[in-house]
Amino acid sequence: MLPDIEKLLELQIADQEIRKLQEEIAELPRRIAAIEQKLAGTKAHLERTRAAAKADEANKKKFESSIQDLQGKISKYRDQSLDVKTNEQYKALLAEIQFAEQEIRINEDRILEVMVNVEAREKDVKAAEAKLKAETAEIEKEKEDARRVTAEDQQKLTEWNAKRDGLRHGIDADLLRHYERVMKFRRTGLAEVIEQKCMGCQVRLRPQHYNEVFNGQQIVYCDSCQRVLYYNPANEPKVEHAVEQPGHAKRRARPKSDSPQAWYYRPDYGEAGEVLLVLSNHSGTASRAVYDMHSGRQIGEILNREGNYRQAFPEDLTESAIRLNGHFDEAEMQEWGTEIPSSALDVLHVDLRSAQRDHAKTRDHKPRSSTAHEHTAAS
Ligand SMILES: [Zn+2]
Repeated sequence: MLPDIEKLLELQIADQEIRKLQEEIAELPRRIAAIEQKLAGTKAHLERTRAAAKADEANKKKFESSIQDLQGKISKYRDQSLDVKTNEQYKALLAEIQFAEQEIRINEDRILEVMVNVEAREKDVKAAEAKLKAETAEIEKEKEDARRVTAEDQQKLTEWNAKRDGLRHGIDADLLRHYERVMKFRRTGLAEVIEQKCMGCQVRLRPQHYNEVFNGQQIVYCDSCQRVLYYNPANEPKVEHAVEQPGHAKRRARPKSDSPQAWYYRPDYGEAGEVLLVLSNHSGTASRAVYDMHSGRQIGEILNREGNYRQAFPEDLTESAIRLNGHFDEAEMQEWGTEIPSSALDVLHVDLRSAQRDHAKTRDHKPRSSTAHEHTAAS
């Protein structure tokens, strides 16, 4: 792994810690505001309950004073009744007294009603007061916690910032700029490559690109998400069908030249670009199918021509074509339909990488093969 990548990995950890701390610090005032809003709700409820209790009290006083007035009137009427001259006058006073007595009863009922209310109201006020007291205590505790956590976070933030500044100094300036720009938008600036995929965006790398990351000799950016890519063999899951394990020096088997089925990789297949193609001999005829290198989906129709595939499809056996190991049962291939399943695609990809590596190793020592279909790897 390049030293700059190792430093970037450390830097990314620091950057992520810093962001987490900053977010936590920014979150605390919002949390306190939310708590205080809840407290304000409880306070308002208590105020309303108290106001209602006060209104009840005032009503009770009003009814009581009405009763006193009415009782005053009644005794006045009684006094007057002693001096009346006629039966009519007496009856009229009696009617007034009865009316006042009725009014007193109505007021007494109202007072009773208010009294019942007052009891319930008192309970409400007490409950609201208790709730406010409990919430206030809780909020004070939460505020205290928030203040403590903020102070701790600030301390950690200072430490991480110092560490981050130290790490940044040692990294190539252009690389650092690129990393920080991607980091800003995507929250990470660095992504591991596992099973030929960028773990940042899950997009599969082109074989050439993958080899560059795998070899770890240069800085490679993901075509899709622009993150800086790195490869760690320790994290690569073992491929079941692998012809060769990455990092092991086991020799790649040479594809058989007389095989009735031959797989090729071509990096330059017209508009499709990178493809896998399979040439097969059947008795007297040859067929050719082409697949997208990454998705494994079939491109175009299967072609059938007379003769063996070398005679039938010479235009496919170009200088840049790489012959691959891989043989699949005809019946199995029928079942694939128009897409190579990922298990088979993996086998072919692994062998391609292996062929490209072999080629890189031997390119300086061996003369080039004269015909395309015999060499195991091509430029
Ligand atoms: Zn990516």
